[in-house]
Amino acid sequence: MTERTLVLAKPDAVARGLTGEIIKRLETRGLRLAALKMIWIDEELATRHYSAHVGKPFFEGLVQYITSLPVVAMVWEGPSAVSVMRTTMGATNPAQAQPGTIRGDFGMDISNNLVHGSDSLESAEKEIELFFREEEIFSWKRPHETYISGE
Ligand code: UDP
Ligand code: MG
Repeated sequence: MTERTLVLAKPDAVARGLTGEIIKRLETRGLRLAALKMIWIDEELATRHYSAHVGKPFFEGLVQYITSLPVVAMVWEGPSAVSVMRTTMGATNPAQAQPGTIRGDFGMDISNNLVHGSDSLESAEKEIELFFREEEIFSWKRPHETYISGE
């Protein structure tokens, strides 16, 4: 099924010049970039985006981190986009993420784990709404889409 997922190149990815690398991996995997903007997340948006983590011991540090620099927010579209992104980004703790994943290739620290990807279709819908208006999101197909994504 065609899905959309929210991806963030987080402050450490922007600071380290890894935004292009993250985009490249998702493009070559076969997902389609449907929306992109740079945004400096404020405390309110951080709290809404990470509402599931309010009250956890790492929450305050997480808000400080995600608001520390601008992020590159994206919507990616394609078959099983949510799980394709989750497997491309790797486990939450980069120290345990598989090599070949974004976190496993570029990270070591759970507090600086480079990327966000929605964890379910339901979260994806909610998170995309927080960052983008529907008119800012473009669904499109490649001429040879069927060879790439099967769609
Ligand atoms: N996080 C952290 N310390 C932890 C757990 C999570 O700093 O012990 C941060 C980390 O940036 C992570 C985010 O909180 O990406 C959201 O956590 P979640 O469990 O949703 O991980 P994700 O879905 O990003 O893999
Ligand atoms: Mg999560």
